[in-house]
Parts: sequence; structure tokens; C-alpha cells
Amino acid sequence: MQRPTRAEINLTALRHNFSSVRQQAGGAKIMAVVKAEAYGHGLARIAQELSNLGTNYLGVSFLEEGIALRKAGIYTPILVMGGLVDEQIEQYLDFGLDITVSSVWKARQVEAVAEKYATKAIVHLKFDTGMGRIGQQWHSAQLLLEAVTLLPHLELRGLYSHFASAESANLAYTKHQLDCFYSVLDMAHRLKLEFPLVHIANSGALLQMTEQTRFAMVRPGLALYGVAPGRHLEAKIHLQPVMTLRSEIVYVKKPPAGTPVGYGSTWRSPGERWIATIPIGYGDGYPRRAGNRAIVMLRGRRCPVVGNVSMDQITIDAGVEAYLGDEVLLFGKTGNSELPLWDLCAAIDAIPYEILCGLTTRTPRVYVE
Ligand SMILES: *Cc1c(COP(=O)(O)O)cnc(C)c1O
Repeated sequence: MQRPTRAEINLTALRHNFSSVRQQAGGAKIMAVVKAEAYGHGLARIAQELSNLGTNYLGVSFLEEGIALRKAGIYTPILVMGGLVDEQIEQYLDFGLDITVSSVWKARQVEAVAEKYATKAIVHLKFDTGMGRIGQQWHSAQLLLEAVTLLPHLELRGLYSHFASAESANLAYTKHQLDCFYSVLDMAHRLKLEFPLVHIANSGALLQMTEQTRFAMVRPGLALYGVAPGRHLEAKIHLQPVMTLRSEIVYVKKPPAGTPVGYGSTWRSPGERWIATIPIGYGDGYPRRAGNRAIVMLRGRRCPVVGNVSMDQITIDAGVEAYLGDEVLLFGKTGNSELPLWDLCAAIDAIPYEILCGLTTRTPRVYVE
């Protein structure tokens, strides 16, 4: 018998979201982003499902994530999107992983290693159009584009960039980034360089700048997991939450009025209320700042988390009725109860991404249909 705290991963919802995303993508190819353990849903399992569903590519952040997928027997093309560590180039070639090249220096490093092994490295050139992280700056794109024409061991498969605020209600900056991206594409065109896979759209762009940002491929992450990257985007596409975090009451009592609850005694019982203890805490990834802020669902009722969140337990004000073994929904959907992840995020000023990928390995992932 497993502990009652678990993250249920609904594969039917994942399939539904993939087909919604595919529809939104029009004819564009899809790179399903599965970095950070597939946003906490389980890297290999989710990548396998998405590959079965026909994703054209998988996107990860680090070499190690790509290797883990290959070792799990997944042969879908994989792009590692994070910054390239020179000493790891050999391993990209060994495991057949696409490389993100974001400077002339890196391009030459890759060329040297590929030449040494008499092979071709598959690369996607990454340009910075306003995110300010890795990427050749868009206004000096010519330097990188000209340099790669002299490097015969690079197979130029992709050219891409990343948006800083495509989920925002204000799209001015995203449009500016798109202009910069076009100037890179123009430069490539002038140099007669062909890139089969031009890509820039994350979930936010796919939802609200659909036609303008699709190009040859789109790179959704969050939307596949059934969460819109902004609440105002929920109406743009039909998604079903893939993850449900649930637990059960392991203890209830009705302490006298004024009884303090939890570390620091930050909350006191007003009396005549059932205080229930739930076996989940920040050690599972349930955020500590949910204490005295978030709510959970108990028997279809919304109950506040009272007192501080402990490492292994939280306490809720269960009101007038609570029983041992009652199901408690932290977020997601069970039976006829639903608590959107965005509700938790709004209560504690979090984003869905950090809650999903913050769940620790102590919380079992249980795959359901
Ligand atoms: C994480 C990531 C994505 C996916 O972003 P979502 O907002 O989850 O759709 C796409 N591209 C890059 C480069 C990323 O790092």
C-alpha cells in the first residue's frame, strides 16, 4: 500500500492536449518540450507517450536529459536547448543529439570534434532576439551565419530563438522580438543558407500569435501538460490538466479556541472547527509559502491551509466535518472536484512551471488513463 500522497498523471489528458496543440500548430512540426523531468511529469514516460503520439522532436535543456532519453530507448530526434559545454560535444555525437550553437566559438568547437570523428554534427543556430540569455545577438547574426558556411562538418538543421514574454497580455515586446528574428532570417536568406527547421513559438506564442510564429516547427511545453501559460489564455485552446496532486487526511482533531497550529504558531484555531493534518509538505515540493495562503479541496469544499507548511505535513481548516481518509485535492481534478493549478499559483504568487517541476521524487507519479 502506497502513501496516499501522489501525483496522478493522466495520459488521456496528455493525448487530448497533444491533439489540441497539433491542431493549433497547423501544418508545423512539433517539438514537445520535456525538460526538467517533463515539467515534473516523468521524463522517459512522457517522452515515450509523446513520441508514440507522433511528436517530431523532443526538446530538453541539458545533455544529460537527452542521454537519459536515448538510454530509455527513445529514438525521436532530440534538441538540447541549453548552453553547450565544450567538453560534452563528443557525447552529443555519441548519442545522436542535436546541438544548440550560439556563437562562432562554439560552432568551431563543434566543427573540430565532428571533424575528428569524421562525422557531421546536427546543429540548430540560436539567436538572441531579446531574451538576453544564450544566443548570438540578432544584430550580429551575420558573424555566425558567415562562420558556419566555412564549417563542413556542421549539418545546419535549425535556426531558432526564444520569446521573453509571449504569454503576456501586452505583445509589443514579442512583436519586437519577431522583427529581430526576421532580420536574422533575411540575413540567412541573403547568404543563401537554408534551415529546414525555423522555430520560435513556445506555448504563449502558439496560443496568441499563432499564425505569425509557427514557422516550420513549434516548441510547446506547458500547454502539453494541460495548463495555459497565462490565465487569460485559457479560452484560446482546450486543454485538460495532466497532473493532479492529491492526498488524504491522516489525522483530525478539534482543538479548543486559541490553540496554535504549526511551526512558529502563526495561526490559532478559532474553536469548533476540525483541523486536519495532510501528509504532504515542502519536502514533496508543496511550496512553503502556501502556508496561511493557499486553499485545498476537501469533499468538494474549499478549505484554507492554516499555519506554516512543514517539510512533511500541512494543516487545513476543514470546517465542520472531516474524516480520516478523506481525499484532499491540492490541485488538478479528481472525480467531480476540480482545483485549477492557477488558483494555487494566484494565491502564492507562483507560476505553474515552478510548482510542476518543483515536485520532488518523494511524491510518487502514478500514471492513469
Ligand atoms: C522551456 C522552453 C520552451 C517551452 O516553453 P513553454 O512556455 O513551456 O511552452 C520552448 N523553448 C525553449 C528554448 C524553452 O527553454
